Amino acid sequence: MAQQNAILVIGSSNTDMVVKSQKLPAPGETVIGGKFLMNPGGKGANQAVTAARLGGAVTFVAKVGNDVFGKQAVQQFQREKINVRYVVTDGEYASGVALINVDAQGENCISVAPGSNSRLKPSDVEPALDSIGDSAFVLLQLEIPLETVAYAIRRCSEKGLRVLLNPAPAQALPTDLLASLYLITPNETEAERLTGIRVTTLATAEQAAQKLREMGVANAIITLGAKGAYLCTESVSKLIPAPPVTATDTTAAGDCFNGSLAVALAENQPLEQAVAFACKAASISVTRMGAQSSIPYRREVDGLPL
Ligand code: ATP
Repeated sequence: MAQQNAILVIGSSNTDMVVKSQKLPAPGETVIGGKFLMNPGGKGANQAVTAARLGGAVTFVAKVGNDVFGKQAVQQFQREKINVRYVVTDGEYASGVALINVDAQGENCISVAPGSNSRLKPSDVEPALDSIGDSAFVLLQLEIPLETVAYAIRRCSEKGLRVLLNPAPAQALPTDLLASLYLITPNETEAERLTGIRVTTLATAEQAAQKLREMGVANAIITLGAKGAYLCTESVSKLIPAPPVTATDTTAAGDCFNGSLAVALAENQPLEQAVAFACKAASISVTRMGAQSSIPYRREVDGLPL
């Protein structure tokens, strides 16, 4: 295995509770559903699990509640060989949950109670940032307070750590934060939110990626679903295609992409090769149902041709 740098993931952990039924309930209506499924989720947790399954040395910073969901989540992270030293427990707020209804056509309706995720503070992140080595990659998303994300990015910038920001769910960001990023990875919707450019074609993906670089990010990747990912750096501006597969469920494809990308970069793979690796891993995840249940292991990704 190549020389490996540490990966610090800072983000959310949720429990997804899914009820499948013939139709989605209308306001005020009760629908008797079919199967109930309870799955670990949250963008931070999904990305940390991906990075660990693909062989990364992962430390996760998150906040869970003092309840059964929080305890189960921590046990799950430990089973995945994630360092949970900086997963803290909130004494007051419940663990984050997402209530998901899915109808027979696959249409869904989701409400999220972020709970303890909304209480992850800069002071919770600081000990992990203090302890991590200078060569680490830090991976963040936007399901925790923006104040904490901003703090982590600024502290990483001071320490010279490379930060990957997956700006999901979509929201506007202060320009000074963008200038401190090594890499940003929006999907089409998030890219439009950040740049004002509607991404519908390769040409508009290129424009949005260039604009992100003009806004100060060193490297931009726009994920384009089945098409793959558009990479824009100082020297390269090109589409890295996704391997063609038959998709059955794209839940967490973006999380799988980001966690995989962090692993390849932590192994010092060049950016273009790292994006191809992430496309390969994410293409496997879309052929399977669920979020963390769909995330592949390293041997499966290495088994596919580039
Ligand atoms: P999601 O919200 O579903 O998790 P996303 O909108 O954040 O995903 P996408 O751009 O849809 O992100 O997908 C991320 C990556 O996953 C893509 O860049 C691609 O590599 C891979 N991918 C997604 N859909 C497909 C597909 N149908 N076939 C092959 N690869 C796919």
